[in-house]
Amino acid sequence: MRIAVCPGSFDPVTYGHLDIIHRGAKIFDKVIVAVLINSKKESLFTVEERVELLRQATADLPNVEVDSFNGLLIDYMRKRQAKVLIRGLRAVSDFEYEMQVASINKKLDDDVETFFMMTSNQYSYLSSSIVKEVARFKASVSDLVPPVVEQALRTKF
Ligand code: ADP
Repeated sequence: MRIAVCPGSFDPVTYGHLDIIHRGAKIFDKVIVAVLINSKKESLFTVEERVELLRQATADLPNVEVDSFNGLLIDYMRKRQAKVLIRGLRAVSDFEYEMQVASINKKLDDDVETFFMMTSNQYSYLSSSIVKEVARFKASVSDLVPPVVEQALRTKF
């Protein structure tokens, strides 16, 4: 079975993430969406809230599982017996950082492959930060996030 892990902060999940998750789910037998527990990074939603929103947003995808992890991604992948790591690329600006991370992960575990997927054009400027910025000022985010997330943002602000 080909298992891929799609890691990130997902604070909160957007249509950009969902695009990558949907496309990944067509290619791999199983996609584990893994929310990184990072106490250093300030977040709007708790890990539990982010996991719950992801679960609701991917409920239509039977081969997608949502989980959270602590520590090194490579260790988590070993535990889950996943050999593929999915990352989305938006602009050229994502490239340098992603190259660095992919290269260190390769060094840590040579069996792990990073699989990059280019964003669909309509989402190339979409990020969780932009969504939060827009929602904070009570503007509509209905084109950017699924309805459950829109509702959760309305509750937060
Ligand atoms: P991180 O903090 O690890 O970048 P994110 O939650 O911001 O976590 O993103 C998780 C993954 O989703 C990353 O691979 C990121 O490049 C990808 N991603 C985020 N937004 C988009 C988008 N609009 N289109 C394609 N991929 C995206």
